[in-house]
Amino acid sequence: MKYHSIAIDGPAASGKSTVAKNLAKTLNYIYIDTGAMYRATTYKAISLGIDLEDQNAYDFLNNTEFVFKDGELYMDNLNMSVLNRLKAVANNVSLVASHKPVRNKLVELQQAIAKQSNVVMDGRDIGTVVLKDADLKIFMIASVEVRAERRFNELNKLGLKHTQTLSELIEDIQRRDDYDSSRAYNPLRQAEDAELIDTSDISIGEVTGLLYEKYISKLKGEI
Ligand code: C5P
Repeated sequence: MKYHSIAIDGPAASGKSTVAKNLAKTLNYIYIDTGAMYRATTYKAISLGIDLEDQNAYDFLNNTEFVFKDGELYMDNLNMSVLNRLKAVANNVSLVASHKPVRNKLVELQQAIAKQSNVVMDGRDIGTVVLKDADLKIFMIASVEVRAERRFNELNKLGLKHTQTLSELIEDIQRRDDYDSSRAYNPLRQAEDAELIDTSDISIGEVTGLLYEKYISKLKGEI
């Protein structure tokens, strides 16, 4: 059986996770937050005290379990929602995600999930690498100020209000975007067949509605 998939890519905090999560809920698909997998890998690498720069030091991924439950990632049975937002993770995740063995392993796991279920997946390389045949591909952008504010509110909700100021968040977002777009292996970029959506001036709720309609029309063969 062929399962359906929606791929949403874009720079940090562009709103893709919220939209992907809402869409998945509406469609009763599984939401896969691939950024959470790179963050959790970073958390584990830091906890194990490995040399983060050494791309061959990530063998622990062969004995690491990633499970998504209700849109939240559990790594080795540990809920990663709050741990993934730690500053040390944000500061190192782009370095960790630039390593080819790390990407190959996580992409393999992501593709295995999409082979077994209908998914909405968000990340940086979903449309270009992970789900090249996705039914719908979106590349979501927003101004850096809007994105930092969204991330700030998100941290607030998680009770992590004081971990990063708004200007620190702007800096973090810009640094990660530069790093993610310029890495050699599978950089952040819009797939040729992805649709560009700027969410600076529209609410996340509106974007979700728009994508839902687009997707349903596409499935019906109307577009
Ligand atoms: O989506 P989120 O901001 O949580 O992603 C954290 C980091 O993980 C990104 O800045 C990027 O370095 C990396 N990432 C990636 N490929 C993905 C998803 C995330 O390289 N598919």
